[in-house]
Amino acid sequence: MASEAQITQREIVSRNPATGEVLGRFDCATVADVRAAVLNARDAQAEWGVLPARERLKVLRRFQRLLQEGKTEVAQLITRETGKPYVEALLTEVLVVLDTCRFLVESGPAMLRDEAVPHGNLIMKAKVGQVRREPWGVVGVISPWNYPFSIPAGEVLAGLAAGNAVVLKPSEYTALTAVELRGLLARAGLPKNLFRVVLGDGVTGAALVEAPVDKIFFTGSVATGRRVAQAAAARLIPVVLELGGKDAMVVLDDADLDVASSAAVWGAFVNAGQTCLSVERCYVQRRQYEHFLELCLAKTQRLRIGNGMHRATDVGPLIHEGQLRIVEEHVAEARLHGARILTGGHRLPDLGANFYAPTLLANVDHSMQIMRDETFGPALPVMPFEDEEEVVRLANDSEFGLSASVWTGDSARGEKLAARLDAGTVMINDVVSCFGISEAPHGGVKSSGLGRTRGRLGLEEMVRAKYIDSDRLPYTKKVWWYGYGPEFGPQMEGFVDFLFAPSLLRRVRGGLRSFAAFFREGRL
Ligand code: NDP
Repeated sequence: MASEAQITQREIVSRNPATGEVLGRFDCATVADVRAAVLNARDAQAEWGVLPARERLKVLRRFQRLLQEGKTEVAQLITRETGKPYVEALLTEVLVVLDTCRFLVESGPAMLRDEAVPHGNLIMKAKVGQVRREPWGVVGVISPWNYPFSIPAGEVLAGLAAGNAVVLKPSEYTALTAVELRGLLARAGLPKNLFRVVLGDGVTGAALVEAPVDKIFFTGSVATGRRVAQAAAARLIPVVLELGGKDAMVVLDDADLDVASSAAVWGAFVNAGQTCLSVERCYVQRRQYEHFLELCLAKTQRLRIGNGMHRATDVGPLIHEGQLRIVEEHVAEARLHGARILTGGHRLPDLGANFYAPTLLANVDHSMQIMRDETFGPALPVMPFEDEEEVVRLANDSEFGLSASVWTGDSARGEKLAARLDAGTVMINDVVSCFGISEAPHGGVKSSGLGRTRGRLGLEEMVRAKYIDSDRLPYTKKVWWYGYGPEFGPQMEGFVDFLFAPSLLRRVRGGLRSFAAFFREGRL
């Protein structure tokens, strides 16, 4: 458990990874600060949680308007804090969040509505049931730096729409973006304390899991996710875990190679490869392999690397030195074991401390880290395969299962193969963009996580089901209550036959035998 002494007097620093410029400094929230934020949020939630969904969604509509008006400033801030190209900040962050609002406003009320539960069992026919979707109370959101706006905002907005209060612990590297999200929601008229941001590092994140929150939504690495799940299990609170990936791209021999190679290059290098859904390994059917590599090489060499604020930049820097070292290690190990580096494979110090050249690798295999562990950087390892059996085995040979993609001119063939891949999402003839579909659930299998965010299934994670059952015969004692007596057992045998015996004759006989039980005297 984090002690007070451990988390006092520490500060986090937000830096532009392209230039090293310090953008902001913040004191880490203490254990007491985190706890107070959760308790204040709980107070605020009491009124919010009972409002009709339509009322709550008015705030989201105003937020959407403000974000649309401020899109340029918000995207520029994200670019300064993460290094990603401005246009990526605009499309993969701002636009995704605007569309999340659209989805929640349009579909939220219907999805959060009470749901009738018809009863099929004849003996229960006098009852009427419904499932109500109630907010958990206070949900904690812990988010990473790679998509510092779209990831937390998606969860925060769904949580608020469902009637929760939300306390967010953003990554220490992207505190300013979280502060901007808080500002926008405040300006949209969200009641005070319903959305709290606690700034700090991993210790602050741990303090949030230990604070009296009702559910945790964690997005980050497998190692931290495991720690969060263990801490949540000790408190018996549920968690949704969105963790790492080693997403496979499978290019079949009937795919359009020009399109597929463009997808591989974009899918591997978007956000400098720091995307949970990015193409981390690519498999190409043998007869197309060399041609595919040539196309990828030509396209990779045309990428413009630089500061994301420059409008022509395709690929920005990595977030920090630690991330860059992981990429370097994976590439060095692959090279040592015989991989061919077709382009890249080195830092770009002339551009700044955190730049690494987009790297294309051939002659790779599953003994190499670059094909097994999450690289989370601008590396595209490409491996040939002979047939579908082999590629299914290769794609599933991973501890991860976040997403995958299949490339083919034959969508039926693609769907058949998709069904055999162990992944939370499989895209046919596209990569990464599933996160931009607000209706689609997002999440992984195996070490890539538990539960779902986004879409209807993500909204369902923000509520707990309460079943309400109402008996329409309030003046009648139930047939199965005490006062059984010697006849009741045989009568109920008859009733079971009446409901489930295979022959019509036995059902009719059973019905006749059980009939008297429903007028049984002597019930207590
Ligand atoms: P981390 O696991 O390092 O951190 C994630 C968040 O957890 C940060 O806010 C971090 O704070 C916080 N944290 C750190 N330690 C603890 C702790 N003990 N208890 C609670 N919270 C803690 O991941 P990164 O930020 O480096 O993000 C990269 C990873 O996220 C990659 O593995 C990537 O695949 C994954 N990811 C998964 C996605 C998905 O949807 N499946 C989407 C995006 C990323 P701080 O940063 O301040 O240390």
